[in-house]
Amino acid sequence: MHTLDELVQHFLRFPGIGPRQARRFAMHLLTEDESANESLANLIRSLKTTVRPCVHCGRYVSYRTREDLCSICTDTHRDQSTLMVVERDTDVTAIERARTYRGKYFVFGGTVPLLADENAGKKVRASALKALLAQNLETVHEIILAFSANPDGDNTARYIETLLKEFQEQNPELTLTHLGRGLSTGSELEYADPDTISFALQNRK
Ligand SMILES: [Zn+2]
Repeated sequence: MHTLDELVQHFLRFPGIGPRQARRFAMHLLTEDESANESLANLIRSLKTTVRPCVHCGRYVSYRTREDLCSICTDTHRDQSTLMVVERDTDVTAIERARTYRGKYFVFGGTVPLLADENAGKKVRASALKALLAQNLETVHEIILAFSANPDGDNTARYIETLLKEFQEQNPELTLTHLGRGLSTGSELEYADPDTISFALQNRK
């Protein structure tokens, strides 16, 4: 296969990228000078050794921080009693941009699709979420399930509700809430504007 075609195949695996965009990316690299492509290649090569997930919430942190926890998890001014479960790291960025939420986060690492097999829970951080809650059952009072307003998002929320039933039995004060449907149906949390996110948070139920 042509190097160019091979590159196109790689870009096609990126989320939300179709064949035409993938080809445009590959063509773009042909117009870049040698040093820019070199530094891009180096960054890709070192990505997995310089960035790793926070041991608590799963957000990505730089190895250079030399700490196991991210800046949000170590921030003692944040509300320890509220935990928001989101699909991915970029959702945290979107919610932080809205500047309304002051609690903690947990990155679930994906969704559980409607037609998921039994192994679906292994592809997401289901056991890490349970372990975190088992450790913090007395501190956490509310868990906000903040998934995108689409069938997979809804199904993931239901999956987590079932998962956390045992903790609710142990601690009846633990409440599970969902973002209010200020988010339009089908919308991805990551792309929601700050006002919409603030509204959905205030109207959680
Ligand atoms: Zn963290």
